[in-house]
Amino acid sequence: RQLHLESVDPESVRWPQEYEPVVGRSVIEELRRLSRPLQEKSWANVNSTADGGGVAEMLRGLVPLARGLGIDSHWHVLQGDEPFFRVTKKFHNMLQGKNLPLSLEEIFGAYLGTIDENARRTFITSDLVVIHDPQPAALVMNGVIYGNMLWRCHIDTSGPQEIVWRFLLPYINHCAGAIFTMPEFVGTGLQIPVYQIQPAIDPLCEKNRERTLEESQDTLDALFEQEGIDMERPILAAVSRYDIHKNQATLVRAFAQLKKEHRYDPRPQLVFLGNTASDDPEGLEVLEDLQKLADGDPDIFFFVNVPDNDAVVGSLLRVAAGFLHVSTREGFGLVVSEALWQGTPVVGSRVGGIAAQILDGETGRAVDPLDISAIAEAMHELLTGQERCVATARKGKELVRRQFLVTEQMRRYLCLLRYYSH
Ligand code: UDP
Repeated sequence: RQLHLESVDPESVRWPQEYEPVVGRSVIEELRRLSRPLQEKSWANVNSTADGGGVAEMLRGLVPLARGLGIDSHWHVLQGDEPFFRVTKKFHNMLQGKNLPLSLEEIFGAYLGTIDENARRTFITSDLVVIHDPQPAALVMNGVIYGNMLWRCHIDTSGPQEIVWRFLLPYINHCAGAIFTMPEFVGTGLQIPVYQIQPAIDPLCEKNRERTLEESQDTLDALFEQEGIDMERPILAAVSRYDIHKNQATLVRAFAQLKKEHRYDPRPQLVFLGNTASDDPEGLEVLEDLQKLADGDPDIFFFVNVPDNDAVVGSLLRVAAGFLHVSTREGFGLVVSEALWQGTPVVGSRVGGIAAQILDGETGRAVDPLDISAIAEAMHELLTGQERCVATARKGKELVRRQFLVTEQMRRYLCLLRYYSH
């Protein structure tokens, strides 16, 4: 094996029994049973960022667990420059339906040029190679990957701009199969088997581990004091990359409407926490627009790339009176499961993968992402009906335990590994 893509965390291992207290013995036994014939088999993952965004978040839990189950597992990151990630971010936005201009220079120069550059430095041989999202897709036709390849799509491609989907289709069809989060996301023209795997969170990592309210407040204390956030006043939290499809602008507008319609004492605060991913160059522009929109409202706070990110995210989700996630498009929205896992009530849009997590009135409140009044009303409910909301969040946590933990995701990948690795 010779590999020249950046390898992430080549040593870390997570033992399956560590998850037993969270998911129970039978789940762990099933993972062991499925992985028995896979000892010494190999599994490689290729994506485009080691940090930021849901894909990196998932691979960080999945790859060490696969190692703990005896599978020779790897995670490789494509190298790109700013023009490359500008184009792939356009692909991302266009695959999720946004109409944007795309030039031949962008496709052949910035995109395929960078793929060729990576291919010159790459040779991957593995029983199964999973290519995540559109960024590394064209690598599959460069003849540098040996083994069964599956293309894993993490975004909502149910209504893509044809030009990008048609461009990517030959690369996708060159793979042995494709994996989508929801059946509705499967685009037309696929000539390969299609599988469904839902994303998942790792309950043992720093972000998602169980934490007490006091401990969480301690973690946030200095950061909040510096910004003037008052822990005694209710906090509505929104955590995600700054991205047009995350629709944070609607939250700012709904919060303004909420404050116009109701007088609260103490006044609630809206806290945005976002990071920039190395493969997403648009984040800071989106953040600037949001800050303009918030127009100096002293109850709205924006954080970007906080130090000690994972502890801060987990703690913020823990202390918040409610979590808001109203994307207009969303492949899944891991952060929704993260909030439910901390026991926090969620208002989520009835969109993509969020809809699989937020069952209206059962595990949270589902809203139309463009309905400002409905979102303001749902915020009001979070602030005035805490007890009822916390009870739904409790049911949400059980849904996450059954369906959206890394152990379930591992189980599904093991089935594919068994099928594709001989
Ligand atoms: N996230 C984070 N810090 C931030 C903002 C987001 O760690 O400041 C994490 C968040 O907790 C989640 C991931 O980034 O684990 C985002 O995944 P999600 O599926 O919600 O959205 P994506 O970015 O993949 O569209």
